[in-house]
Amino acid sequence: MKMIPDLETLLPAVASGKVGKISLVGAGPGAADLLTLRALRVLQAADVIYFDRLIDPDVLELANPKAAQVFVGKDVGACAWPQEVINQMIVEAAKAGQHVVRLKSGDPSVFGRADEERAAAAEAGVPCEVIPGITAASAAAAVLGQSLTSRGESDRVIFATGTCRDGDEAPDVAALLRPGTTVALYMATRMSGALQAQLMGAGFRQDMPVEVVASASKPNEAVLRSTLAKLSEDMQERGISHPAIIFLRSPKHADADQRCIDANSLITGQTEH
Ligand code: SAH
Repeated sequence: MKMIPDLETLLPAVASGKVGKISLVGAGPGAADLLTLRALRVLQAADVIYFDRLIDPDVLELANPKAAQVFVGKDVGACAWPQEVINQMIVEAAKAGQHVVRLKSGDPSVFGRADEERAAAAEAGVPCEVIPGITAASAAAAVLGQSLTSRGESDRVIFATGTCRDGDEAPDVAALLRPGTTVALYMATRMSGALQAQLMGAGFRQDMPVEVVASASKPNEAVLRSTLAKLSEDMQERGISHPAIIFLRSPKHADADQRCIDANSLITGQTEH
């Protein structure tokens, strides 16, 4: 694995005088076979790959063996490289004629800071594309065996973060949890205690089910089925930590589905009264 682009790779591109491009690629939740074919194709065409901490080595193994791989170490609340430096590095490499892959976990458009990188590319006149990936909430729902939406029970799903920018207000999860809603909380393992206090303070039942899926699709995948009152305690006991999705659900009124027309009556053209 080459850690920095070397002259041998850079010079022909610079000499050609052509601007390269930036691909913001979603690597999916971890397992290499959850990459899209388009992501794979782009990884195999890359000259240089800047990747985050959550990217599995198996995914990098599928990349062009000649591509330089640069670990930028971005993670919740910690960041080996400041975002501005990443922006600058990817733009400079593309301006030097390279096909730059910025490989991000999950989907680049979900808590992925893709907009900042896209804006830096636009400002420098470098072409930039986004290749979507499977976001962690989708992978976690599959592991749990429970859909993000469920007909008659949950007709909206909200992706929310538990960790905002320094100085920003913590998310008001209680306000998001209206009846008929599934909330998938990203970057929230460290705020489980605050979450419990907030929701119980807002009148949510102590025995409300809360599920946590950690490292979905990775070898150390783990599922926790807990309750609001015991969430932090259970997470600690089971050693459930980052990266994880915390699922909170507020089901719709149980008889909501009864208002729908029976599917059989649609086929026969008859409606029962
Ligand atoms: N763009 C990513 C999210 C990046 S933010 C996506 O679309 O999935 C990082 C957060 O994503 C983590 O704190 C965690 O909440 C979640 N996450 C990423 N990979 C995960 C995985 N394999 N299992 C569970 N949660 C994961």
